Amino acid sequence: MGKPTGFLEYGRVENPCIPVKQRIKNFDEFHKLLNQDDRREQAARCMNCGVPMCQSALKLSGMYTGCPLHNLIPEWNDEIYRGHEKHALSRLLKTSNFPEFTGRVCPALCEKACICGQEGQPVSTHDNELYLIETGFERGYVVPRIPAIRSGKRVAVVGSGPSGLAVADQLNHRGHSVTVFERDDRIGGLLMYGIPNMKLQKEVIFRRQKLMEEEGVVFQTGVDVGKDIKIQDLKKEYDAVVLCCGAKKARALAVKDFDKTEGVHFAVDFLTSTTKSLLNHNLKNGTYISAKGKNVVIVGGGDTGNDCVGTSIRHGAASVTQLEMMSAPPVERLESNPWPEWPKVLKTDYGQQEAIEVFGSDPRIYETTVKELITKKGVLTGIKTVQVKFENRQMVEVPGTEKEIPCDLLLIAAGFVGAEDYILDAAKLKKTARNTVETVEGQYKTSEEKIFTAGDMHRGQSLVVWAIAEGRACAKEVDTYLSGYTTME
Ligand SMILES: Cc1cc2nc3c(=O)[nH]c(=O)nc-3n(C[C@H](O)[C@H](O)[C@H](O)COP(=O)(O)OP(=O)(O)OC[C@H]3O[C@@H](n4cnc5c(N)ncnc54)[C@H](O)[C@@H]3O)c2cc1C
Repeated sequence: MGKPTGFLEYGRVENPCIPVKQRIKNFDEFHKLLNQDDRREQAARCMNCGVPMCQSALKLSGMYTGCPLHNLIPEWNDEIYRGHEKHALSRLLKTSNFPEFTGRVCPALCEKACICGQEGQPVSTHDNELYLIETGFERGYVVPRIPAIRSGKRVAVVGSGPSGLAVADQLNHRGHSVTVFERDDRIGGLLMYGIPNMKLQKEVIFRRQKLMEEEGVVFQTGVDVGKDIKIQDLKKEYDAVVLCCGAKKARALAVKDFDKTEGVHFAVDFLTSTTKSLLNHNLKNGTYISAKGKNVVIVGGGDTGNDCVGTSIRHGAASVTQLEMMSAPPVERLESNPWPEWPKVLKTDYGQQEAIEVFGSDPRIYETTVKELITKKGVLTGIKTVQVKFENRQMVEVPGTEKEIPCDLLLIAAGFVGAEDYILDAAKLKKTARNTVETVEGQYKTSEEKIFTAGDMHRGQSLVVWAIAEGRACAKEVDTYLSGYTTME
């Protein structure tokens, strides 16, 4: 432990944010890094506990707490405190391929399990991680590591989200030759087209792509495997095929004319169209789904819904409402949800904070869903909502609670129902009841010879950190399959 009394002397300080009124004028990232001295104080708050829960990834009461990558958090916090950034970064990179992604978008399972958070404020591990990797790039510590020897084995990775990138990065460093096939025009999966630019600026993904290309990974974008190339052809040409295609099949709303009404869109389509237009034309070509001047209603109170709130505000929406069918969580932990369990408490994220400042109130309405679309000549003009409650785990409507609200843009952020069928069918894979790829538990080999899987396609919609963890574990299995043994940790 760098400073035994650090946690007593210094309070938690988070990366500062640009004020709401200023940041909503553009789609730029709005968090700034602390300077080195302030960062050292933050790292000094880490107590190097005897049993660091922060790196545990324990499943408690059905939810994970602690880092799924088992990042060596106390070690590198100590090194930051001592001013040894280069060494700290080398310890971080031992377990984590892309700290620049998780340091920006991870909900920080590590901090939820930090012992400092038991009574007070947890160590700012998420921001410390981002500081380390960004300092590493700035100071030239992050350089291409080109494998000295090639194994002669060739691997096709399908899908370039965080899981596919982690598989590719691991196997390439082991000396296998990796080609990543991506159907979209840019790599990154939901990091690129899903998570908005203000949370993860896309230059960060381009920077990583360049590094991986310099190290020998080949990216082929605009190739839809299962349509443009047959899986059977990939199996013939490559020694192993790893499917990391995500779980992007969105859950629809059970209301009449859902798929026929103008003004109703899935959240990811809305977010993708904004990012594509931002990158291609700085939003000047009018090809994106615009919320400008519209009454926007978002179905789904989760993180995707929050991203839609922040994006709609930046478009210049007239109003933004977010509907959530569950009850509002408590503000503080209940006794039944003790530390270090994942805290099931109310989180007011950046988009909701912005809505509160711009429109004067929290956009979320709980225990409510959409009952009916109100249209004029097929165009959405409003919605009828109804309150709901749960009886025997079934959602039921509360009679007499219907309301009409104006709405000309309805965004559906109601979750996902698994992987897309065409790729599962093309590869003839066994599916689980959740429409993900079936494997033996804790393994990544599928029912088909030579084919492996990782990430959301295997696990179901999850988090970037889990996608990276799955990618690393899958790569280890593929390496054993190709080499007969593995040296990967
Ligand atoms: C709007 C939104 C916001 C999110 N925000 C966060 C967040 O802040 N923090 C967090 O931790 N998690 C977040 N998540 C979840 C996180 O993004 C995912 O869990 C993670 O990206 C999954 O990674 P993956 O590699 O398994 O799949 P994906 O990221 O979905 O990537 C799959 C890739 O495969 C490609 N592909 C699919 N089929 C084919 C094919 N047949 N041929 C070629 N390519 C194909 C797709 O185009 C895509 O690029 C968010 C999710 C959404 C939807």
